[in-house]
Amino acid sequence: MIYLDHNATSPYAESVKEFIQEEMVNKWANPSSEYVEGAVLSDEIKLIRAQIADGLGCSPKGLIFTSGATESINTVLSQANLKKLGVTNIVSSSLEHHATLDRLKFLETEGFKIHWIENDQEGRLNLTQIENCATNLGHCLFTFLYVNNEIGTINPIKEISSIVRKHGHLVHIDAVQALGKLRLNLEEIDVDFASFSGHKIGAFKGIGLLYCSEIKNLVPLVHGGGQERGYRPGTLNYAGIKSFELALNDAKKWDLEKIQANRDYLEKKIKDLGEVSINATLNQRVCNTSNIALKGKSSKEILSQLSRKDIFISTGSACSSGSFEPSHVIKALGFDKQYASSCIRVSISNSTTKEDIETLIENLKQVFTY
Ligand code: PLP
Repeated sequence: MIYLDHNATSPYAESVKEFIQEEMVNKWANPSSEYVEGAVLSDEIKLIRAQIADGLGCSPKGLIFTSGATESINTVLSQANLKKLGVTNIVSSSLEHHATLDRLKFLETEGFKIHWIENDQEGRLNLTQIENCATNLGHCLFTFLYVNNEIGTINPIKEISSIVRKHGHLVHIDAVQALGKLRLNLEEIDVDFASFSGHKIGAFKGIGLLYCSEIKNLVPLVHGGGQERGYRPGTLNYAGIKSFELALNDAKKWDLEKIQANRDYLEKKIKDLGEVSINATLNQRVCNTSNIALKGKSSKEILSQLSRKDIFISTGSACSSGSFEPSHVIKALGFDKQYASSCIRVSISNSTTKEDIETLIENLKQVFTY
């Protein structure tokens, strides 16, 4: 199998596999129990939180474990939280992941005003519009992707936060696709909230993180047993938390230059196949993602042909791939439905080899001969 869809999810990191095989079976206790089995896990979680915080450049006090980025994003964008923050205006973009987009569309129906920042065909946000919103609107929450999951573009979050925080507004970032691919320092980029998901870097599915610079201002999405200081109650997912720590440590060893060399090799070779264009190359991008229009071809057809050969890529975000709707991101770049229907996303990892790319190219050649 050649798996080239790491922005959708990643196989378990090597250290996570070892943990599953050697340790997990004995670490089943409830970390909130008073007897020793639980207390040991609770102490371990304290250390893990400190280690993760160190890696993300923030205080451990600002981190809470969630079930994933969808929950983290929905916690920040919950009505109760926005009310406590005094926010009625939200500023965002059409390039966001559905976890944010669908939440914002719901908030719109509940009376919140959403201000959509425009972007160009390279996926660059209009910073003048951001500045205008920051200058002219009442208390706002700005929410943007750090790294776009479909086209790999990096938003200039530090610049955006310095523009909007001058005016006292708040910033949330969806940093899911930044993990492992960018050096992260949450305090340095100066954001109020950041959402993360473990399974994109080889941790378990169902574990995520929410960072809050002022945790006391957060209103929990759910209420219950007081775990996570009451900000995210529910029995702690020790195994998921451990897998997050292990996967994050493995991700620190990724050879980003090698990943980029393989991605660039793909983009060079694919251009020889026919009428091909690569989306958003003039913008800053992370090293592993390539979004490619194979003009006149159907990405749905290409995907099914490749999957018959055990090669897995995608048309965009996994949430919408079941329905094979053309990507909302490609449409938001200003392309028509036909162009969007010809786009594939290849997202590689540290374990992807040049030979994997060559096999993909060979198989794509056959697609082009139809
Ligand atoms: N945000 C981005 C950029 C993503 O890629 C994803 C996963 O597809 C999510 C949010 C949602 O993460 P999860 O499914 O772990 O809740």
